[in-house]
Amino acid sequence: MSDTKSGDDKTLSVTPKKTLTLKRPGTEQGTVRQNFSHGRTKSVVVETKKRKFSMPGDRPEPAAPVSVFTPKPAAAAPQAPAPAAPVAPPPPPRPAPQPVERSGMVLNELSRGEMEARRRALEGSKAREVEDRQRAAEEAKRRAEEEERRRRERDDSARRQAEEEARLQAEAESRRRAEEEARRRAPQAADLATAEEEEEVKPRRVSPGSPASTPVRRLATPEVARPAKPTKGEEDRRRGKLTLNSALSDEDARARSLSSMRRRQEKFKRAMHNEPREKVMREVILPETITVQELAQRMSERAVDVVKYFMKQGQILKPGDVIDADTAELVASEFGHTVRRVAESDIEEGLFNIADRPEDLVSRPPVVTIMGHVDHGKTSLLDAIRHANVASGEAGGITQHIGAYQVERNGQKITFIDTPGHAAFTAMRARGAQATDIAILVVAADDSVMPQTIESINHAKAAGVPIIVAINKIDKHDANPQKVRTELLRHEVFVESMGGEVLDVEVSATKGTGLDKLLEAILLQAEILDLKANPDRTAEGVVIEAQLDKGRGPVATVLVQTGTLMPGDILVAGNEWGRVRALVDDHGNHVQEAPPAMPVEVLGLQGTPLAGDRFAVVNNEARAREITEYRQRLARDKAVAKHAGQRGSLEQMMSQLQTSGLKEFPLVIKGDVQGSIEAIRAALEALGNDEVRVRIVHAGAGGITETDVSLAETSGAAIIGFNVRANAQARTAAAAADIEIRYYSIIYNLVDDVKAALSGMLSPERRETFIGNAEILEIFDISKIGKIAGCRVTEGKVERGAGVRLIRDNVVVHEGTLKTLKRFKDEVSEVPGGQECGMAFQNYEDMRVGDVIECFRIEMVTRTL
Ligand code: GDP
Repeated sequence: MSDTKSGDDKTLSVTPKKTLTLKRPGTEQGTVRQNFSHGRTKSVVVETKKRKFSMPGDRPEPAAPVSVFTPKPAAAAPQAPAPAAPVAPPPPPRPAPQPVERSGMVLNELSRGEMEARRRALEGSKAREVEDRQRAAEEAKRRAEEEERRRRERDDSARRQAEEEARLQAEAESRRRAEEEARRRAPQAADLATAEEEEEVKPRRVSPGSPASTPVRRLATPEVARPAKPTKGEEDRRRGKLTLNSALSDEDARARSLSSMRRRQEKFKRAMHNEPREKVMREVILPETITVQELAQRMSERAVDVVKYFMKQGQILKPGDVIDADTAELVASEFGHTVRRVAESDIEEGLFNIADRPEDLVSRPPVVTIMGHVDHGKTSLLDAIRHANVASGEAGGITQHIGAYQVERNGQKITFIDTPGHAAFTAMRARGAQATDIAILVVAADDSVMPQTIESINHAKAAGVPIIVAINKIDKHDANPQKVRTELLRHEVFVESMGGEVLDVEVSATKGTGLDKLLEAILLQAEILDLKANPDRTAEGVVIEAQLDKGRGPVATVLVQTGTLMPGDILVAGNEWGRVRALVDDHGNHVQEAPPAMPVEVLGLQGTPLAGDRFAVVNNEARAREITEYRQRLARDKAVAKHAGQRGSLEQMMSQLQTSGLKEFPLVIKGDVQGSIEAIRAALEALGNDEVRVRIVHAGAGGITETDVSLAETSGAAIIGFNVRANAQARTAAAAADIEIRYYSIIYNLVDDVKAALSGMLSPERRETFIGNAEILEIFDISKIGKIAGCRVTEGKVERGAGVRLIRDNVVVHEGTLKTLKRFKDEVSEVPGGQECGMAFQNYEDMRVGDVIECFRIEMVTRTL
């Protein structure tokens, strides 16, 4: 087809060569006649390929078949004198080694002339190819132009048609109105109505080829019919329902719609990405640490955006990296969200202290701990109470020790924590659990008040737990209960008989006397306390003891404080959790429920919690896992960060007190003898003023024990040892709890240190010292420097770097610092009285002759007590 068109020499010369390429060497040709229906036939040339070709550029290749098809070189020969295609550079005669091997003989048979002819033929074919491509491009362009022209014509005609239609409709409309008018006037409405209908149909038939106009005509008024741009909705509708008309007439409009639809989709997608960030403001709950991913999630942002933000700040973070709450807050506010910081973590939210409605609360038994000095009979008393209460059949039988037990008196239960002494008590308090409602202070009547008695009193007071005094060993001949009562007065325990409110009972653990009275006193005290709990809820409480039992796995004795614990419950205790497999009471019986104030052994925990850990029942395993994992992580973090904040050090305490505004300095003091302790106490209490003072949480004779450490831990105190040392357990405990222990052997040094610590808590005083006065004699205005006052020092001296005041008629008009202090041309550091100097103020120029410049020094003076 292109031959006729271009018709130049090149094409002509190329034509035979094309034939050459078609009749590929190595193929056999034949003609096949095909028969079709209705007697039509067609003959087809069939080529049978004999073997594989190598690259078309390989010249020796065609040589092999040449020998077979002898007429071919003849066909190639006449084109030899037509080297009219020098467009492409002659390809290098690249004899491929493979064909040479295969048909080396044949190659030799070819004459040089033949080879040359073929090379030219190939070149020509390449040139032709290029030409063909050019021609095709031209053709395509031409076709596009043609198309464009036709489209324009079509558009024009469509517009013309639409206009025509609009006009027609307008005419029809006006005609109809006229007819209506006429109909209204004339009574023969029926005839006219049919006529009107005909009129309405007619214009529609007039232009069946214009689809766009059809609906428009029906909807719009004639004036705006065609030019009105279809709304988006219409466009959609039209696209969605492709009618024959629209397909025929408006194909280019359709093309436009498609691309515009794509654009619109893209725009929509973009909007989807951008919108939430701009619009949705969230309250982001932030625990102490959070991963970037989690933060992004809580902000409903993409993690990658948060990472990008960090990158902009010069920080390379991965989504899994943990950031602290401050950083997270910054990020959140940067993204336009508000933040709610949670102290512990929202993981634990709602785990403890779920509020109960008052009407759900019912009375519960009191929980009692027995405290007192060693050998005053705590264990004996606990045993006596227990055995007295065991049913006669059981007496002497095996009783289970689970760390706590319950007794009944007049149908009312009392729970005893079976760990005598205050070690367990303080350990629990140190973990934030308060299990005890009432403390029984056992004092041996023959020994009276002893150091641990005092410790016990301090512990109970610190915990705000009421005390009942049990004066024990009343059976002894040298028992002096009255002495006990009087001595207790000195420690601010006022028993009833001494005019106070503390109940006291005389008992004998060994003889079993007074035990009923003691129980009654406990119940009375419990009544006063009005102890209540809601049994109809998930259980909460505290771990009293826990150990790893060889046969039963981790076993924890827990005291249910509220709710009812049942087998099958999922329980979180400290860092451990588990599903309750069985509940065992203090008699070794399996029970199906443990109501408030009941101690039970819990089987089925995954690990052993610590005494004093609080426990709670949660809804499902996932939550239990989540909480314990969080707590374990927290424990690890705490262990890591332990050295960062020393809780019990004097320095730390000072800074803590300063920041928190507290003015009390808590101390636990242990000394060798009571006398020195009293002396120290007196000296320390004399320290302090209305701003700061020492608070002695506990002072006692004897070495520093674990109990002292846990007391210090709960009250946030430091420990002072006077001529005493801490035992190994206490040292370990102190190290674990970061409690500082300081040892002294001279009271003066001890008091001095504490005084210094207290003084540190006082804010320093600002003290001003007058240095000198200078009178301004003259004002010089120096172009580059500004105004300089020429003065004479009239009093004291003037110093550079000191504070200065400008005083005019005894009124301070400016206060600031000096910019320069000059004596003649030189800058000097000070100018003595009587001499003249030049002075200039920093950022102030309004000096006048006659003004006085006052020079002073500011000192921050640390206050002492
Ligand atoms: P704990 O260290 O406070 O637990 O005291 P214990 O319960 O171990 O008692 C220490 C000693 O005091 C034991 O030898 C008891 O037998 C004795 N003891 C305890 N209570 C009484 C009592 O009421 N009367 C007499 N006479 N001895 C008692």
